[in-house]
Amino acid sequence: MFKGCITLALLMVRDRRHRPLRDLRISLTDRCNMRCTYCMPREHFSGEHAFLPKSEILSYEELAFIVDALVPLGLEKIRLTGGEPLLRRDIFDFIAMLPSELDIAMTTNGLLLEDNAIALVAAGLDRVTVSLDAVDIETFQAMSDTKAKPETVLKGIEAARLAGLKVKVNTVVRAGFNEHSVKMVADRFIGSDVIVRFIEFMDVGETNNWNLEEVITGEQMRNMFDELTPLPPNHVGEVAKRYLRAEQEIGFIESISKPFCSDCSRARISADGALHTCLFSSQGHDLKSMLRMDATSDDIAEAVRTIWTSRDDAYSEIRGIVEKEKVEMSFIGG
Ligand code: SAM
Ligand code: SF4
Ligand code: SF4
Repeated sequence: MFKGCITLALLMVRDRRHRPLRDLRISLTDRCNMRCTYCMPREHFSGEHAFLPKSEILSYEELAFIVDALVPLGLEKIRLTGGEPLLRRDIFDFIAMLPSELDIAMTTNGLLLEDNAIALVAAGLDRVTVSLDAVDIETFQAMSDTKAKPETVLKGIEAARLAGLKVKVNTVVRAGFNEHSVKMVADRFIGSDVIVRFIEFMDVGETNNWNLEEVITGEQMRNMFDELTPLPPNHVGEVAKRYLRAEQEIGFIESISKPFCSDCSRARISADGALHTCLFSSQGHDLKSMLRMDATSDDIAEAVRTIWTSRDDAYSEIRGIVEKEKVEMSFIGG
């Protein structure tokens, strides 16, 4: 047992800032059934936009092969995301292929959650984060540029809870759009076990017209509540600052005002099979070509070890010096 632990510790990979590779976010598709203004603005992601053809997207077998190869490097968590992961056909088959010792989570806009929650749990999903930027229909539809209704997402959240999933809600807050959602979304989940995380509007990608004036900081959001008691982090690298509000846990993800790069253990695989070591990267490392040239599991593990050991990303801490175009969040996986 002791010897096994030593072997594991030797295999675990660390980057140049001594950060492990603990989390892998997998973008299952670059497509989405919403056009959130801060993520896939319609003027850029309309009929003209070239989404990936099926042949360029990694198959479930290819993705599972990569995941298996990364487990010995220290991988503990998988998050399925996109684009909208529930648009990917037979996603249950993929979840069932993942090693059961990993913590398996999904981020979804919730529109297709109600009908799929039970099957997701049966396949092995542990947790779900549902994005919900407003509970009032006008703001919801304006933020996400959709005709869908917040009730659909709320029903999805309830179905997920009843199916046994741990549920968090993500609310992106953008000045001039949904400041009022901070209180309203939090209030909607008082008395339930759903944890709400408020996210500062981030400068991901190149299309969302980000500017600093539209950022409501975590501090400003906290000031909207009467009384909050700070909670300690659940684990090293936890991105949200947690607070207790009455009987409810809420949290703030402050990537702009309080960057958390120093503990960032997240890698991402884009829908077309490139490994990205930072959300704000401009170029990934092509694993798909390796896979399609019959790379072995050891080859993939060795390639990722080399990539990770040379990783020095800390974009949020040194914001503003990316010279090339940043990859879109819907492509790389949020
Ligand atoms: N479609 C799914 C969803 O919306 O939950 C998964 C993918 S989405 C890219 C993942 C998360 O990224 C969502 O919670 C979304 O709100 C967040 N997000 C997207 N663009 C963002 C931005 N510019 N700033 C902050 N969060 C953003
Ligand atoms: Fe789609 Fe999610 Fe991006 Fe909204 S945040 S456009 S739901 S991928
Ligand atoms: Fe991690 Fe990059 Fe975000 Fe920093 S900016 S927390 S390194 S993904």
